[in-house]
Amino acid sequence: MSSFPPGVFAVQCPNPKCRKFMLVEEHDRGKTVACLICQTPIKVGSAPATSKPQTR
Ligand SMILES: [Zn+2]
Repeated sequence: MSSFPPGVFAVQCPNPKCRKFMLVEEHDRGKTVACLICQTPIKVGSAPATSKPQTR
């Protein structure tokens, strides 16, 4: 399902009325990007939003 090119991952819009997934690139980590749909600022974290937290 998540067959993005290397260096690209998805972040989800925090707007509860939008929740759109957007693709961002590795160099966008730590930055804030605007949602293309609702223009809500999305903080790009250090981990992909689609990956589960690894606790080990
Ligand atoms: Zn949005």
